[in-house]
Amino acid sequence: MLSIPLHTPFVTALRRTSTIDTLIVSLELADGTTGLGEAPQVWAVTGDSVASAAACVEQVLAPVLVGADSDDWDVLAAEVARACARNFGAKAAVETALLDAVARASGMPLAHLFADVAGVPRPVSRGVGLGGEGLGGGAVGVVGVGVAGGGAAAVFEVATDVTISAGSPEALRSAAQARVAEGFTRLKLKVGTDAATDVARVRAVREAAGPDIGVRLDANQGWSREDAVAVIRALAEADLGVEIVEQPVAGEDVEGLAWVRERVDLPIMADETVYGATDLERVIRLEAADAVNVKLAKCGGPLTGLRLLARAREAGLGTMVGSMMESHVGVATAASMVAAVGTSAVSDLDAAWWATHSPYAGGPTYGPGVIRLPEAHGLGMALV
Ligand SMILES: [Mg+2]
Repeated sequence: MLSIPLHTPFVTALRRTSTIDTLIVSLELADGTTGLGEAPQVWAVTGDSVASAAACVEQVLAPVLVGADSDDWDVLAAEVARACARNFGAKAAVETALLDAVARASGMPLAHLFADVAGVPRPVSRGVGLGGEGLGGGAVGVVGVGVAGGGAAAVFEVATDVTISAGSPEALRSAAQARVAEGFTRLKLKVGTDAATDVARVRAVREAAGPDIGVRLDANQGWSREDAVAVIRALAEADLGVEIVEQPVAGEDVEGLAWVRERVDLPIMADETVYGATDLERVIRLEAADAVNVKLAKCGGPLTGLRLLARAREAGLGTMVGSMMESHVGVATAASMVAAVGTSAVSDLDAAWWATHSPYAGGPTYGPGVIRLPEAHGLGMALV
């Protein structure tokens, strides 16, 4: 169990936090190869806590794997998914630890295992600091440029936004300026705390960021149906260049999400509405969203996550991979999914950037607007 301080408080319509509280699961194969997985505490969204995830792993999920043959990892992952109701964070942690160990034992990065699972070509790493192709306008969340040599570390580079916590227009203005100065090119603004002033806050961010920075919004279920329509229409009218509005209404109100989407022009992304495949099918059937945000702590692991991304793409929905407020293990796993299969929208994987330090050896680092995964065996990470 880890508690990692944040350098800046993280504030949404649902919660305020100044630490990442998370459970790290470590799995060891008979040959000593280890794997890591993460179950973040998210009381306000999934209802999972560090204590509940630990109980689930110890009492229900670990017994599925202990003594089993890791060559049967796909069968074992399905058994983990079926072993109990919900507890998606705990399931994601265990499945990730298993896949990390399997990839490590096979001498391949997790992103390559994910590409094999998805039936797509393995992504190509690139050398950091050797120039390259830029970020392709941000349409695809991954850069795979075949540059190597020069002693530079080979990495998979995945573009990410950075979140601006909910706050006053003045606080948002200075936060937006600071993030842009640090090299982020896409800002995610938390709204939904006060419909009456949401437009003013978005305007403050747009003015501070300038015209060339991407601005996306996340209401985190904070609006009523009517408020959502009113605010989103006002945002469109104010022409503030909002690229997408995430989860305007309560997660379980799928009909409400469709009701809002039918009445506004800005694209709507489902987050808290979509945990797994059944939720995604309902969104597709009701035409309730233009895009979906896939997170490990909601869907129960990368194998389901990859299936959700494929199904959403097939149904014509936009795709994004995000994370909870979680640490480098969870974020690196999610970024490995993006490196493997790509997404239509730039990722939302800044969570570990908020941490004052990494409690791991190895693992992802952040560059301007990107998260970098070392080309390692598995995640290439260890607790220190
Ligand atoms: Mg969200």
